[in-house]
Amino acid sequence: MNRSGRMTPDAELRRMSEERPPYYWQSLDFPKLIEDYPPPPAFFRTVYRMPHAQLRELQERRFRSQIARAWEIPFYQRRWRAAGLEPGDVRGVEDLAKIPPYTVRDIRDSIARNPPFGDFMGVSPQDGRRLPLVVQTSGGTTGLPRPMLYAPQDREIMAILGARRLVMHGVRPGDLVQVTRSLGLPNGGFHVREALWKYTGAVPVMTGSGNVTPTRRQIEIMKAWGVNVIVGFPAYLRHMAIVARDELDIDPRGLGIRSLDSNLGVEDRKTIEELWGAPCHDFYGAHESGMIAADCAYRDGMHIQQDAFVVEILDPETGAPAPAGGKGNVCVTTLFKYSAPLIRYNINDVSAIMPGSCACGSTLERLERIFGRSDSMVKLRGVNVFPEAIGALIVEDARSTGEYFCVVERAGKAGHDGMTVMVEVADPSVDQNAFHRDLERRLHEALAVRVAVQPVGRGELDRYTGVSRSSKVNRLLDKRKA
Ligand SMILES: [Zn+2]
Repeated sequence: MNRSGRMTPDAELRRMSEERPPYYWQSLDFPKLIEDYPPPPAFFRTVYRMPHAQLRELQERRFRSQIARAWEIPFYQRRWRAAGLEPGDVRGVEDLAKIPPYTVRDIRDSIARNPPFGDFMGVSPQDGRRLPLVVQTSGGTTGLPRPMLYAPQDREIMAILGARRLVMHGVRPGDLVQVTRSLGLPNGGFHVREALWKYTGAVPVMTGSGNVTPTRRQIEIMKAWGVNVIVGFPAYLRHMAIVARDELDIDPRGLGIRSLDSNLGVEDRKTIEELWGAPCHDFYGAHESGMIAADCAYRDGMHIQQDAFVVEILDPETGAPAPAGGKGNVCVTTLFKYSAPLIRYNINDVSAIMPGSCACGSTLERLERIFGRSDSMVKLRGVNVFPEAIGALIVEDARSTGEYFCVVERAGKAGHDGMTVMVEVADPSVDQNAFHRDLERRLHEALAVRVAVQPVGRGELDRYTGVSRSSKVNRLLDKRKA
């Protein structure tokens, strides 16, 4: 110490050497990790084709240790004790139904009670003294985004799970992969970078979303460098192709793109595939969980990474497991996480487990496409409407750019709920009256409830949706809730 009570540089350096946290490479047993969670190509010889009984046995073993870890975390201790559970009550996957599911609301509540990181993770930034941590967040629409601290084992296994998805989607060693997902607090872009760079042999090109690298520049880079694969949100993949074609006079089909990687949700892959002349692959995951499922070359449902997750489909009304093949909320349990294991996390996305097996020969169960968010679902005169499903119908019509925005309001003395769908027309030559009439009829047929269509000019919806600037695209304004 010097006279001011501060440590001298030498003393500080000595203390730092004594307290040095483990380096990243020391924090994991990498050979064991690779054996336990095989990255591609070993994944395709092992987990991808593992007999059901063996897979089940693997899940059970990992499940028991994941439950033991969860009992160390205040969030679960509190919730599970309140539900009358004691350690030892949950012995295997079969006992899952004893555990109360939770949603993002419970995570927000955990953060509000224990700011700023909540009590659901079991680690805090101070734990950086004993293991290397990194924080990323959800996309975040209102208020502060939800943080997630990743421990080395979480981050590394998530990178492997992500690499499996990318290779299933056609990424090969030596490819140049343009990653147009956000490069900031949200996990999207960084996760893909780690997966590509560490476990695929492909080279990530981190252009980020349109507000990091303007769309025209994205296309110039793609063309000049010879990019083979693009990773991006469906709306942005469409937007890029249209900018290339109409503003830069570059045919996106001539750019040599071999594969597109997107989280399609309810969006229609056909339009995107036609624009780029390449297959568009789907996946499903969240920043809390990592890559849950991804489709294979057959693009017929998404294979669940069952060595890392147990996925249940729950009836949205009762919370009970949906009947086999039935639609319901995706509820996920992780089998590999140290920080913030998820035990029955109801993501509130509606999907189903597909019956039968895939032509690719994988034994992994498949999740059907995502039909929509059960919490963005709009109840319109007694009918459940997903704004995303409206989008899927709109992109089928070549007279539109595929861009849309829904406004719900209560109107008239009787207080009728009505929805107006604003839709961009592709170009001024479109007969707006015919377009308006045809689309209203099509939506009425498909949704079983009448909505109003309002055609608008190209680019006019960007200020509502944020497609050109952000990776979080808005599709709905519900004025009844305002
Ligand atoms: Zn398959």
